[in-house]
Amino acid sequence: MMKGLFSTIIFIVGFVSLAYTQSSEDGKWNDEAIDKLIAESELIPIQITGDKDNRINIVIMNQWTAADEAPYNSPDMRGEFVKDIEESMVAALTYGDERAQTAYASYKEFFNVYGLWAPSVPEWKKGIDRETVDAIRDKLFLPWKNEHRGWVTFLVMPNRDKGGGGAARNLEERVGTAVIAGNGIGKMLHEISHTCMSLGDEYTTAATGTGAFPTYAADLNYEREKIKWRKWIDPETPLPTPYEEEYIDKVGAFEGNQYHLVDYYRSTAQGCIMGAGVFDNTEEMCPVCNQRVSMRVYDLVDPVNGFSPSETSIEIEGVQKMHFSVDHIVPEPNTQVARWFLNGKLIAEGVDGIDVELGKIARYELVCSISDETEYIRPDPPFSRFPKFEVRWEISSKSAPTKASPLVVKLSKTPVSGEKTVWNITSDISGGVPPYSYQWSDGTTGPTLKDSGLGIYELTVTDSEYRTATSGIDIYAGGLASKTKKSKSKKRKKKNEISVGCNIKASDIGKANGMLAISPSGGKAPYTVLWKKGKYQYGSPWVYESENATITDAEYTVKHLFSASNNTYVDLKGNEGSVSWEVKVANSGIYPVDIIYAGIFMKGSSAKLMVNGVEEKESVHFNQTRPLYTGWDVATAKVFLKEGINTVKLFSNGESLPNLDYLRVPTRVEAISVSGNERIGLAPGTYEYVVMDSESNTVEGVVVLPETYPFKISDISVENTSEGTVGIASPVNGYTYKWYAKDAPQVKLEHYEKPLGVGNTFRVPHKGTFYVAAYNEATNAESSNRIGFAVGDIADRREVRITPEELGEDAIKLWFDSSDIDGNGKPDEENPDRGPVKSWEDKSIRNGYELFMKYEPNALNGKGVAAFDHVWVSIMKEEVKEYQTIVLVYKEGSVSFPGTSLFRGLNAFIGRSSDVKKSLFDLDAVDDRTKKGQVFLNGKKVDPFTTPNPMEFCILTVELASPSDVPLARTEGLWEGAIAEMILIDRKLLDWERKGLEEYLRRKWFAMVDIKFE
Ligand SMILES: [Zn+2]
Repeated sequence: MMKGLFSTIIFIVGFVSLAYTQSSEDGKWNDEAIDKLIAESELIPIQITGDKDNRINIVIMNQWTAADEAPYNSPDMRGEFVKDIEESMVAALTYGDERAQTAYASYKEFFNVYGLWAPSVPEWKKGIDRETVDAIRDKLFLPWKNEHRGWVTFLVMPNRDKGGGGAARNLEERVGTAVIAGNGIGKMLHEISHTCMSLGDEYTTAATGTGAFPTYAADLNYEREKIKWRKWIDPETPLPTPYEEEYIDKVGAFEGNQYHLVDYYRSTAQGCIMGAGVFDNTEEMCPVCNQRVSMRVYDLVDPVNGFSPSETSIEIEGVQKMHFSVDHIVPEPNTQVARWFLNGKLIAEGVDGIDVELGKIARYELVCSISDETEYIRPDPPFSRFPKFEVRWEISSKSAPTKASPLVVKLSKTPVSGEKTVWNITSDISGGVPPYSYQWSDGTTGPTLKDSGLGIYELTVTDSEYRTATSGIDIYAGGLASKTKKSKSKKRKKKNEISVGCNIKASDIGKANGMLAISPSGGKAPYTVLWKKGKYQYGSPWVYESENATITDAEYTVKHLFSASNNTYVDLKGNEGSVSWEVKVANSGIYPVDIIYAGIFMKGSSAKLMVNGVEEKESVHFNQTRPLYTGWDVATAKVFLKEGINTVKLFSNGESLPNLDYLRVPTRVEAISVSGNERIGLAPGTYEYVVMDSESNTVEGVVVLPETYPFKISDISVENTSEGTVGIASPVNGYTYKWYAKDAPQVKLEHYEKPLGVGNTFRVPHKGTFYVAAYNEATNAESSNRIGFAVGDIADRREVRITPEELGEDAIKLWFDSSDIDGNGKPDEENPDRGPVKSWEDKSIRNGYELFMKYEPNALNGKGVAAFDHVWVSIMKEEVKEYQTIVLVYKEGSVSFPGTSLFRGLNAFIGRSSDVKKSLFDLDAVDDRTKKGQVFLNGKKVDPFTTPNPMEFCILTVELASPSDVPLARTEGLWEGAIAEMILIDRKLLDWERKGLEEYLRRKWFAMVDIKFE
């Protein structure tokens, strides 16, 4: 459960190669000294599954420091060193072992494990450092025999069992070095995963905002259609996903990753070995990291040991039966599926060897294709796909004895109905030797393709002797008879006609964030609302490989990598140039063109797109640094394509193009109608609707959604107007006001947000914080911000307010106030943005305490609060001692660990209960001084062992029976709540003092106005 300073994880991306020219006199290692250490050391093979040039090699090297109780640096420790490796790294890779690490344990055959036993190694960091280890590693393992294959990570391990580590890697060289301060398997695999798996840290730090970049398991996106691990997210899981208990076991997009506290997302709430949420409470990987491991091992290791016949180009004579087989390594359990294709036709599945009769025709291609269809991977190209590897034989027959006329496929289409929108595509086969088998481009296998709409279709036919022939047919929009359907309008007059009201929120200029809400009345409810041309639906996409493109760059090369689409991609080597494809679509319209790419050392770039010779206005943007080996990415451009063949050309704009995998374009587009009263995320424009009531009466209409410049509001004050109602003190003419339960959204909404009320006044449903926005009735523009205000119950009001200062400034031992971050005694005039605050300063006069926190503005009565969810530990320079009364304006987090509170030293006094629905604290867990003291919740005395935690912001006063001698300095990383204000007082408060202080806090945080509730 260590979190914090003892586990400082440094993740360095890439490093320069070293020259070994220093003399050994100044303590640096030269070539000779390195050779000497290697000669004195022993590379012990512990688990060897194959040649080092085709394995992920993990080499564990012993290190020691003078502080170790039983350091590895004596000859008699060799046995213990080897045993420690077997019980950590080897056990983690052993499927079924209780120490096995998912998904690593399934891929043991892809790893070699060695010990580098160096009994004469000097003390760590005094005589040897990481750079020297890098040099030893490179001497022992480099160069690699093949491009992309092989990896080595050196892991420097001491004989201790606690602590963190650091790692560095070079993806191009395929080397890494990890340093750990303890030999626990969780830390080992955390650091190793930084290297060969290139997985990033998932935790957050105060250094938020520095140059972190999206990694395989980190994303700047949270939108459902864009997020890289979207296949793992249930449709009902909201995005961004709230960091709440309800979603603790779900995959979603939780804020906080790669050192960033905000605007950066991870896949799970807590618990990934890479440090999701709270650090170190688990030794498991999240599903997204598991997926990465399962795919990445195939990038670095070719699973094929050998195949028979070993010659892939074979000539035969006459008809004969031949045996083919592939020998390959497998995961455990074996999730690989082997499929055998003869001239493209599947002939066997699930076997590693087959007998094939050959020689009846002149040429054959036999492919054994093996893919790992593990449950760790949910395919979603280009972000994820089942790893696939192939062995391919070309067989030619000198004498083809069977006589048959050439196989010919002809396709024709016939309309299914008179309207000519749906067609049957019939195949007419001649020649070859029947029976025939059929393979259509949409995956179906019958002789006729029925009920086909617009599209591009292809059929491959194979005869009984494996002759093949392919033919295509396109059904274009232009080929369809245009026929307007006459609508039969019912002329019956209805007494009670439908009328339609509409609530509009304009879109900001340049954004698509408008909203519409239709409210029908009249007619007979319920109503159905349909929108015309609301969205587009696209036919299945076709993939255009880059090796089939026209490329203008003299130096490009086509390379191969397993994780790419068909294993090939174009490397433009950082040069300028252009790549163009011929793209065919069945009808004219706006299409999304997906460009699948990756770059090496790219800092983000852009390129231009030209469609049919016309340059597109908007550039295509390629994201910052997504190294090829950390995965592929998609850039999407929406362009107009005409029916038939189009030339789509991507060309340099003064910057180099990234490595290109393929282009993906749907084959047809059609407008679909959207249904529903409410629509969000709308661009400015006109929206046509049809409203139908339960008796099929309809009314049609058009809504114009305008665009406006965003505006902000500041000087709004809310006052008590009449019983149960608040209102705007001085409303502005031409504006009305919208009242909400939440602050203005910072993220793109997934659902329509309905205001609680509209107008100059607002009937308050319950006490709490509400938000008001201004709405311009003429332009439909709504203020981009909302003013938060708190409404209290007049029944809670006490006449006397006492400020903390009035208790006597010497009595205050600690005072944090999130409305006074700089602690100068005055409310802050300018609030920080949402995100990290490095120094939240104590407000009491003599102290200089500081905390790191996440600022959440406009949370409580218009003021910000300090959130501690997934916030790294802070340690104050000085300890707080001898406090007796603890006053908190706080909100408990549903994902806080039982027994925790803001300060580790307070856990024993006010630690959260294990069941918040039953109690504030656990009777068997808290200190006697709490049990014998008094607890007040929102001003009322309560039994903390039978009173549920409200799980909302509240005022909690805990008066200990006697002052605490437990010093406070270090915050608790496993506490996930939020604090508005915290005051520690050195004594018990008199009853009137406590009541006065609680009233002061209530009016500050919970009641800008007090009203009478029914
Ligand atoms: Zn993870």
